[in-house]
Amino acid sequence: MSLDPYSALGIEPNAPLGDIRRAYRRQAKKLHPDANPSSDSTREFQRLNEAYRVLRNPHLRLAYDASKVGVMQTFTTFPEFGSRPNASPLRCQFCRKPTVRPRFTIYWSVVSNLVYASRHPKSGMFCTPCARQASLRATLISACFGWWSLPGLILTPMAIVRNARGGVRPPGGDTLLLWNSALRFYTRGDARIAKGLAKELAASPTPDSIFGKNMLKYLNYLRPQERGAVEDGWRAQRSDRWKHLLLALAVPGAVAFAVAETRVGETALPILQTASALAYQIAASAWN
Ligand SMILES: [Zn+2]
Repeated sequence: MSLDPYSALGIEPNAPLGDIRRAYRRQAKKLHPDANPSSDSTREFQRLNEAYRVLRNPHLRLAYDASKVGVMQTFTTFPEFGSRPNASPLRCQFCRKPTVRPRFTIYWSVVSNLVYASRHPKSGMFCTPCARQASLRATLISACFGWWSLPGLILTPMAIVRNARGGVRPPGGDTLLLWNSALRFYTRGDARIAKGLAKELAASPTPDSIFGKNMLKYLNYLRPQERGAVEDGWRAQRSDRWKHLLLALAVPGAVAFAVAETRVGETALPILQTASALAYQIAASAWN
């Protein structure tokens, strides 16, 4: 689509789904052809609907976000090293901090109301700390409120497993961002980070690895001494897996203990208390 769907709805690129819905309803009332006498009201209304269609679907929304980042890829020839010293690194969509290795991800949370379960996405371009926080928060919400319906019994563990595995990521999104970020540091003249990112891209099992190999060739020629390294912040998210697992087990475990308690009496109570205290600790750390 030609128009930026975020500006069509008048919202920020990191707006949650609830805000998008509210903005759509507000605009739809204003732009509806019955209420809007201007001559191209139908077209404006269609544009609004198209923007909403993209932003309400987390996969389409992420694809749109990715397409915007991808603009920098349209070089026909390789740019010169250090040719844009002011090139800015990519920024996390949530904390706005510059980040070397961002990722496009959707984290799902599940909320049940005894009859049915609804799924809520949190999607966008994350830095590592924001991704860890968002994934744990999504898992915590699902672990507390997801289980309490029949569909929730299936959707909750599915969502938690996905969050634990780093969320749902669009195919090719990781390499797109790696390449984009590498280009930014390359045109900035930062050989260390550019080389680190190019190495990683070159080693990735995708057709895009050729971009990384080419950049690495240039950098090895221009800066043979530079070793090139970037910190893998995503390792920290992988080590969060046990937290997701523990949160996933909290409610089923508590229910099992409560059932057992009716037989074994008071012995189960301290265990239940310890389990809930532990869950609370993790919850508190997820919120920080
Ligand atoms: Zn962030």
